[in-house]
This record gives sequence, structure tokens and C-alpha cells, in this order.
Amino acid sequence: MSVKIVETNLDFTSLSERSITNMVVLHHTGGNDIDASAEQIHEWHKNNEWAGIGYHYVIRKDGTIERGRPEWAIGSHAYGENSHTIGIHISGDFDAAVPTKKQIENCAELVADICTRYGIPIDTDHVVGHGELMATSCPGTNLQALLDNGIITGKANYYANPSEAKPVDGAKQEGNRLTERFNSLSSVPEWAYDTVKKMVDKGLLTGGGLKDAGGYPADLDLSMDMLRIFVVNDRAGLYD
Ligand SMILES: [Zn+2]
Repeated sequence: MSVKIVETNLDFTSLSERSITNMVVLHHTGGNDIDASAEQIHEWHKNNEWAGIGYHYVIRKDGTIERGRPEWAIGSHAYGENSHTIGIHISGDFDAAVPTKKQIENCAELVADICTRYGIPIDTDHVVGHGELMATSCPGTNLQALLDNGIITGKANYYANPSEAKPVDGAKQEGNRLTERFNSLSSVPEWAYDTVKKMVDKGLLTGGGLKDAGGYPADLDLSMDMLRIFVVNDRAGLYD
């Protein structure tokens, strides 16, 4: 596995080496849904009189992963928790918008790579949102939902162990099994589409609040078995 990182060659005033790495923390830009670059954030953080950008990676809206602070250095992204964590900034305001598909996939791939190299378990205790460590709305409700419902870690587990199971849209760790999860109308198989669309339109399926670009739920969290049952129920007229 190799993740493509775009080098930015930023200048830092002073950095110190981190000796423990046992957690990955996700952040967003917040405030405005902008495609902030590592260079831009570097300037903002230098204006705070920090050594430079506080995050180790920045994931742009097109999925490009830019180098921030060198990975070996103690970051400046999660107050009181910097000595043992790596910080990933995903550009955008995820209280308002949803991360792009490429941001989600490349974030999962980067998380898989980091966790594999440091021996960090890929689960929701070790891959967390900033707001799980302290009182902040970062990384926004829509990105936090992708963490909470296991989509980021599910995909990261797939990237770390591609031979295990291929998630369709999301995937969930159940025991040591990775199961397929269908989260949006666009990922549901054709034979189940009309049934799921009907259930969403009637408010029978709502998801947890994350919406796709069409305004439909993006975190339905449906298994293959659930789809089969819904279709049979639909044929029996239960949703008419
Ligand atoms: Zn943050």
C-alpha cells in the first residue's frame, strides 16, 4: 500500500519529535466551506505564532493529500493531545457540507497507511474526531457521522486488508468480520432501488442526518439482508 502525498516544503520555526503515536484525529476547516490548502493553513497558523501548520496532512476537495507538518513532529491540532496523535485536516465546513467521495476514500486510505505503520488499531477508539477529545464542533456533524457510523474505519480496514472484504459504499466491523453496508440510494443494487426510494420518500428510512448531494440520506446503513426483506415486504404491499 502506498499513499500519494504531495510535498509542500513548508518552513517551520521549531519542531520537536513525537515519541508516541497511538491515535489519529480528524479535523475540518469550519466556518466556510472552502478548499483550504496546506500552504494557506500554514500562513494562518504562523499568524497564531505557531511553528507553522499544526496538522500533519491536509486533504483537499479533489482528494489530493498535501503534507503539512512533518509526520515525525509533534503537531498543534488537539490541545493537550498533541504528544501522541497525528492530525488530518479535511478541507471544508462539514456542519454545512458533506466531504467529497474522494476526500472520504483518500482519508480512509491515509488512515489505513498511518495505522498500519504505527500498529494503531483501526477502530473508532483510535480514529477520532477533534470533538471527541475536547469541546469543539470540529470536524463538523457530517464528518463526525462518517466516523460514528464506522464508514471511515470500515473503509480503512478494507484498505489495510484488501483481501478481506470489499465494501460497497460503507462497511462495518462486526466482531472481526467486515460487512457490506449500503448508505445511499446511489449505492443500493438496482433490484432494491425502487423499494428503498419509496421508503425514503415516505419517511420510513431516514438515516442519521447525513445527506448526499441530492438531499437524500447518505448514512442509511443497510445490510444486504435488510434490502432483501424490504423488497419482499414491498411486494406484499407493506409500504403502499
Ligand atoms: Zn479540529
